[in-house]
Amino acid sequence: MAWPPRFAFVGGTIAIDFAQTGGEGYRARWEGWHAPADMADWAEMAPGLGLRPSVSEPEYRAAWQLREALWRTLRHQLAGEPAEPEDHALIETVASQPDLVPQWRNGEMRWAPDATFTQVMSSVARDAIDLFGTARAERFRKCANPNCDLMFVDQSRPGKRQWCTMERCGNLSKVARHRAKHRHDHGDDHAA
Ligand SMILES: [Zn+2]
Repeated sequence: MAWPPRFAFVGGTIAIDFAQTGGEGYRARWEGWHAPADMADWAEMAPGLGLRPSVSEPEYRAAWQLREALWRTLRHQLAGEPAEPEDHALIETVASQPDLVPQWRNGEMRWAPDATFTQVMSSVARDAIDLFGTARAERFRKCANPNCDLMFVDQSRPGKRQWCTMERCGNLSKVARHRAKHRHDHGDDHAA
């Protein structure tokens, strides 16, 4: 996988994936949302969503606001701090709107395809509250690479996931360990 991909789906849950599509400040360098159609593409590609909603201009702006609030709240969660009151209020307000409607088709669950992006955002905000307010919070963490800001909820049974992805950060760590071992074996520095 080329890095960065257009959208990073490493969060393991839609609230984190939504928050990691880009943003203000230094996060602008991995911005994936340049127009409303990008949000529709994101929803279509996102694990756990897979539907293509229409995105109005007000929804586009609202999604940016929600993303900033979610990003700040996720960082506060990592630090063991409460959310900022405005962010807390915004997340609850978005979650109070109607969310995605599940349907049962041919033995499988899917989301009703005529959804709006407001419903998508409500589902994202509800997912965030579920993540912060249940035992899932214990599995929420940041990539172990200190230079990587990506976050995820560890869904693995042993609960030992360390990296956003093996391709991006897991392999970097493996290479670093290999180099360290190589230096040790040979007693000098071949890594330069
Ligand atoms: Zn990483």
